[in-house]
Amino acid sequence: MPTLGIYLHIPYCLHKCGYCDFNSHPENREESEVYVPALLSEIDYYAPRLAGKMVSTVFFGGGTPTLLPPASLDIILGSVKNHFNLSSDCEITIEANPATVERETLEQIRSSGFNRISIGVQSFDAEELKLLERVHNEEEIHTTIGRARLAGFDNLSLDLMFGLPGQSPVKWKSHLRQALEKKPDHISAYSLTIEPATSFFKLQERGLLQLPPEEIQLEMFQDTIEILQSAGCQQYEISNYAQPGFESRHNLNYWDNGEYLGLGAGASSYLNGERFKNTLLPSRYIREVQTQGSAVESTETLAPLNAMGETIMLGLRRLNGIAIEDFENRFQISFKNVYGKVIDPLLNEGLITLNQNHMALSRKGLNLADSVILKFMA
Ligand code: SF4
Repeated sequence: MPTLGIYLHIPYCLHKCGYCDFNSHPENREESEVYVPALLSEIDYYAPRLAGKMVSTVFFGGGTPTLLPPASLDIILGSVKNHFNLSSDCEITIEANPATVERETLEQIRSSGFNRISIGVQSFDAEELKLLERVHNEEEIHTTIGRARLAGFDNLSLDLMFGLPGQSPVKWKSHLRQALEKKPDHISAYSLTIEPATSFFKLQERGLLQLPPEEIQLEMFQDTIEILQSAGCQQYEISNYAQPGFESRHNLNYWDNGEYLGLGAGASSYLNGERFKNTLLPSRYIREVQTQGSAVESTETLAPLNAMGETIMLGLRRLNGIAIEDFENRFQISFKNVYGKVIDPLLNEGLITLNQNHMALSRKGLNLADSVILKFMA
C-alpha cells in the first residue's frame, strides 16, 4: 500500500520572532477556537479521497502547536487516527517551544499518542535568545526537556541555530555541548538565513545586523558535524543529525520526494504528481474550509524535467544521496542520459560521489550544497 505523511499546521505563536518567515501569526484565542473545527472539516474532506494510502508519519508543526489546549490537540489527532489508515508504528511528532508547555500539558500530549517531540531551543545564551526575539529563557529550555522526558517522550529532537550575529565558533560549540548533555535522540542545526519580509531583513538593509563571515559559518558547520558525530549523532541530512534509528521519518519522506498531505493555513501537499498549497491567512482558510471543505489556493503539476530536478534537489540533501535505480524506475529514463553532462564536471571537482547505484554530495560538496544542487536545476 502506498505510504503518506500528514502535516498539520497550527499557525499561532506568542510573538513573531525577528527572523521568522513561517506562516505564523500572533496568538488569537477566538480565532483558534474556530481554527480547530476547520481542521477537522478539512480532515473529513480529504480522508475519503486518500482511503487507499497508509499514513506512516503525522507531524503537527507551526507556529507553535503547543499553544492549543491539549484537549484540542487530542481531538485533532483523534480525528486523524479515526479517518486515516495509520501504520502501527506511525511516527507522530509535535513541535513545542519552551515556555509554552507545563508538565501536565506534556503528559496529556504524550497520552494522546504523540510519540516524538521537537523542541525549539535555538540557543542556550540569554543574549542570543533576546536577539532572536524568542520568548523563552535558558532555564525554561532545561525544564521543558526534563519534563518531556518525564512525560515519556523517548524520541526527542532539539532545534538549534548557528551563524547568529556576533556568535563565535567557541560559543556555538558550547551550545552543541550543552545540547548533547541533554542526550537528545535527534538534533536539527540550521544556520540563520535572513529572509525578505522579516524584521531581520529590514535591520540588515539598514546595516544594523551582520551575520558572521562565510568562512566562520563554514567553520561552525564543520564543528557541528564533528562534535555531533563524535557523540554518536550521525549526520543524515545537511542540517539533521540522529542517533541510529532516530532519523525523522516525516522529513525523510519529504527528501525522498514522497507523497504528503498538508492540512491547515498555508500547508502544502504533494499527491498523485500534483503540488497544491492552502491559502495562507488563517481567517481566510477557516472561511474557505467552512464553505467548500478545502482551502487550496494554488495547484501545480510538475513537468517531468522539473519533477526529476526536484527529486535530485531533495535527495542530495540526504547524506545517502539518490538511489539511481529508484530514480530510473520512477521516471522510466536513464539517469546518465539526463544528467551525464552535469555529473562529469562535478565528479572532476570532487563535489559529488557516484557509484553504480548512488549519487551523493562529497564532504567538499556538502559545504557548497546549494550551488551543486543548482547545477541539476538548470
Ligand atoms: S516560534 Fe517559530 S514559528 Fe513562531 S514566530 Fe518564532 S520562529 Fe516563527
